Amino acid sequence: MPRLLSMGPNEREVVRNLEGELYIPLNAQDRLIGILILGQKLSQQLFTTRDLQLLSTVSTQIAVSLENARLYQREKQRAGELAMLYQSSAKLASELDLNLLYQKITEETAKLLQADAVVFLNIDDVKRRLSFQASTGLNNTNPQGIDLPVPQEIPEELSNYLRAENEVFIINDVNTHPVNRIRFFQQEQIRSILGIPITESGKLVSAIVIFSRETPRRFTDEEVNMALTFCRNAALAIENAHLYGIERKQRLELERLDEMRSNFFIAVSHELKTPLTAIKGAGEIILNEQGVNLDGPEAELFNIINRNVQRMETRIQELLDFVKIQSDTLQLDLKAEDVNQAIEESTTVNLPTLWSRKQTLETDLLPSPTTVMLDHNRFEQILANLLSNASKYSPRGSEITVETRIEDSKVIIDVSDRGRGVPPEFREQIFESYFRVENNTSGLGIGLSIARKLTELHGGQMWVSDRDGGGSTFSFSLPIEQN
Ligand code: ADP
Repeated sequence: MPRLLSMGPNEREVVRNLEGELYIPLNAQDRLIGILILGQKLSQQLFTTRDLQLLSTVSTQIAVSLENARLYQREKQRAGELAMLYQSSAKLASELDLNLLYQKITEETAKLLQADAVVFLNIDDVKRRLSFQASTGLNNTNPQGIDLPVPQEIPEELSNYLRAENEVFIINDVNTHPVNRIRFFQQEQIRSILGIPITESGKLVSAIVIFSRETPRRFTDEEVNMALTFCRNAALAIENAHLYGIERKQRLELERLDEMRSNFFIAVSHELKTPLTAIKGAGEIILNEQGVNLDGPEAELFNIINRNVQRMETRIQELLDFVKIQSDTLQLDLKAEDVNQAIEESTTVNLPTLWSRKQTLETDLLPSPTTVMLDHNRFEQILANLLSNASKYSPRGSEITVETRIEDSKVIIDVSDRGRGVPPEFREQIFESYFRVENNTSGLGIGLSIARKLTELHGGQMWVSDRDGGGSTFSFSLPIEQN
């Protein structure tokens, strides 16, 4: 039976001990996959050439069936491994806390490769140290923070050494390797190591290391490939968690700055409010009780004081509203009102702002009353903001118009000026807090963000477009109240 020669001496011995009468090799694709051994015939007669021919035909069929069963088994196992790989990788993707992620990576790797222990290791070339980030399956109950000094025999650049095996490093038997000088391996009775490097911008920074205890383990190609695929997914999850961590830190920092700014605004507003009230009160006393000649030069001075006190009050209120809007605590007091009437009242209040720059106001309102739900003071504030901007950003003596129209069950209010207009690239940004196209006029850059938010709280929208013939048109919509 020449085929027996392709077996190892031990296997040959076993087969011989069976003391068969006839040995039929089972070949699948020219590979010996088994031997059919027959004992004596029941008739005690010898096997004939015909028996041999018959058995040879049967043996081919048996070999094919066996091979098919083996392939099916292997495919089934591979499908199972892929499913596990997928599940384990999916578990990582949802973890954004880096420390928990490292821990999960070690646990899932151990499950996938049925490893005795797994550690997530950081590699420090300069200090020539390996330090543990997370681990599973070690005897040492608190291995986190363990530092492994690397033996001298291992070349200077540790990371190059670890990468020498091209992608993975395998130590089949620690006992015959320089790393056996590391006490940790002795304490943990580590015999075999499979390490998968994790790189950051091409530099080896860490590794997932799989340990096997007691007897040396030979990691198969399938196992190594599975570990590589899983670790690549792990590296992506780590990068993801890193980015999330950075983004979260930045977000928290921005929130902290916003809170500081809000607190500062509140403090400044309250500090300014008290002296302002005192100035206003004193002005009124002089006007009413001390008697001021309303046609004399002091009347003009009082007007200047009053106007500026008024302006400062508006600015302070703007800051306080801004803080409320930022913290989503601003609430409206809505009542049904005719929009024409609300516009007329609001524009009247704002006329002095325009007069101070010798500008005129033209209104062209809807012919019939149209009811909208309004917080009157807030509506006045929206219009005041648009009118004061229209005045501020257009020439002295120019005309400003307020028009209304109806579109899709909404009233649209257009405030147009003949000023410098808003360049198209800034038409969204001007509604963001603190954004200003230029800094050559006074202002904080928060008025429009407040006005837009107030409009949105009314269920409407605000936008800007070019005015025909130059200048800009700021428009806002309000839903019409259906009776
Ligand atoms: P502020 O006027 O205090 O700067 P706003 O939020 O009211 O803040 O306006 C933001 C920016 O939008 C202004 O700095 C200005 O550049 C631009 N802007 C607002 N209204 C007009 C307008 N009517 N014409 C041209 N630019 C304007």
